Amino acid sequence: MSVGLVYDPVFLGHDTGDHVENGRRLERTVGLLGSSDLRRGLVSVAPEPASMEDLLRVHSAQHVARVDRSSSSGGGWLDGDTVTSPGSYEAALYAAGGVARAAEAVINGDIESAFALVRPPGHHATRTDAMGFCLFNNVAIAARTAVQKHGLDRVLIVDFDVHHGNGTQDIFYSDSQVMYISTHQYPLYPGTGRVEETGVAGGLDHTVNIPLPPWSGDGEYLRAFQEIIVPAARRFCPQIILVSAGYDAHWADNISSMQVTVGGYARMAAVLKRLAEELCQGRVVFALEGGYHLDALAHSVKASIEVLLGLPAGEDDPLGLPPHGGGTMDIGPLLQRIKTAHGL
Ligand SMILES: [Zn+2]
Repeated sequence: MSVGLVYDPVFLGHDTGDHVENGRRLERTVGLLGSSDLRRGLVSVAPEPASMEDLLRVHSAQHVARVDRSSSSGGGWLDGDTVTSPGSYEAALYAAGGVARAAEAVINGDIESAFALVRPPGHHATRTDAMGFCLFNNVAIAARTAVQKHGLDRVLIVDFDVHHGNGTQDIFYSDSQVMYISTHQYPLYPGTGRVEETGVAGGLDHTVNIPLPPWSGDGEYLRAFQEIIVPAARRFCPQIILVSAGYDAHWADNISSMQVTVGGYARMAAVLKRLAEELCQGRVVFALEGGYHLDALAHSVKASIEVLLGLPAGEDDPLGLPPHGGGTMDIGPLLQRIKTAHGL
């Protein structure tokens, strides 16, 4: 069972200084993978920069030019929390191209699954705008490339980042070939992702939002996966699963109030791996989105990769137990609303 890893130091060229989304996230994670010998079991997938054709499958030419201009003119702020540096444009091209390349390798059968350890992240970037630390929408570009270049008819995106991927939802809102399912803390930035947002026209029912209450933990997430994501995926029957893998719902991550543990992330990864094996020959690509507590991120990514490799992932969280527990919220009525909205 071969698992690919996308990583390249070019991603560190997106130099954001003291911003929470910074290169130390990848350095700490790669360091942990290296020290655990896990990296030797992975097939290295060299990222290539996304072509202009690939970018324009998702973004407007004006947006691409604006990111390029901001970066090449020395860097600056594209919105209140999204910054570029001179190396950002190149890093963003490789991040988008890296996820697309991983998906391509999985589609071609070169590898069964992959983890793309990339930055800048992507799921808030819309067709026309950078936002929320995101420049280009890496997973969306990989999904469109899978459809338009490789002829796939059904691509499933599962987004378990603690924030709603408004950009991804927006890009595929009327698209019948790409299904978008998101778990996220609600309310929280960016404010979208209500149950009632279900898609339009041919994309109707192909957007599934699971807005979880603050303080949700492993129990709530796993229940949402089993009761909503699994049946929705089975009905859609994807040919590949792309995962917007953000680890900012970890209990130690200050950006949210969620209480997910490293073991919880491993169990979510296991559900997605089993779904991929059942529905699409194991084809699944995880692409890093958020996750801002360096150790929580590193251990959670490592646990996800262990699951992809078929290794036993520990149930314990090396960082300890979540202070607010988790697993005690009554999300039954919420899940029922989602089932009703989607006929599940
Ligand atoms: Zn996030």
